[in-house]
Amino acid sequence: MKLKSYASLAIIAALFLLILAGFITPSLFETKVEGAQRPIIIQGPMPIEAEKIVQRLDKVKEEKSGSFVFYKGTLDKYPVIVALTGKGMENTAAATAVAIEKYNPIAIINEGTSGGHDPNLNVSDIVLGKRVTNIGSLKTENMDTNQGIDPTKWIPMDLMASKGSAGEDPNAENIRYYEGDKDLLAAANAVKDTYTLGKVVEGTIGSADVWNNEVDRIKWFHTKYGTSVEEMEGAAAAQIAKDYDVPFLGIRVLSNNKTNGGKYSPDTAAANQDYVYEVVKKYISTLSSK
Ligand code: SAH
Repeated sequence: MKLKSYASLAIIAALFLLILAGFITPSLFETKVEGAQRPIIIQGPMPIEAEKIVQRLDKVKEEKSGSFVFYKGTLDKYPVIVALTGKGMENTAAATAVAIEKYNPIAIINEGTSGGHDPNLNVSDIVLGKRVTNIGSLKTENMDTNQGIDPTKWIPMDLMASKGSAGEDPNAENIRYYEGDKDLLAAANAVKDTYTLGKVVEGTIGSADVWNNEVDRIKWFHTKYGTSVEEMEGAAAAQIAKDYDVPFLGIRVLSNNKTNGGKYSPDTAAANQDYVYEVVKKYISTLSSK
């Protein structure tokens, strides 16, 4: 009898210790993570814009959050996470916030395909986002019934200008540009020569949930905003990265260019990932020498 009760006491004590250990381990683990290297996040909207680079990482583990997939791996033993964000501004903004909260990244690169706004850029050329801007954030003219609509008179609207009404505030009638991070840009410029399928240039990336096929409208953006290319994600990621003070760069390959007849080529998505791989490798080498 006695022996039995000692045994059950021992079991209870053991269970208690196990539970306690369960409480303690997470905090021990967190301290360990804090001291660890902060990962680099590479975002791609479509599977063809993310899968190739995932294949080139080591020790990949998949994690999901909502519809977002995070492929956690390493490159030259440094932690790199490829995020499949889905297309468009909302998906990208949310995937960026989730990634920052979950993984505390040291830098974010948003990459993928784009449509040319600059007739001097051809399909397969790459634009490094020295600046990224939202080209869907606009205020229309005041027009009354039967006065029609005139998109060429629309005014850029900066929703980050103040906490008040952007509709009333003249200070909000400006283009907001998000600057590409200098160190990421330097790494990207340093490996330009590894890309042989076209030019690599610095430029302005314009983003909106709009696919523009009107060449005159494209020209309007090119002249007014200085856009080199358009896509549907960069400015959303840049805005959230800025909110959290995380270094950011957009890297976009032209998959099409209406202004010079450049036909859509999905193969450019893979080529861009090969280039981004070189950029990240270079950036990692600069981190370890700091
Ligand atoms: N043509 C593709 C569909 C792409 S949908 C297909 O048939 O599968 C839009 C996606 O492509 C977005 O992620 C956007 O970032 C990118 N994109 C490429 N060219 C674009 C363009 N000219 N305008 C807007 N987005 C473009």
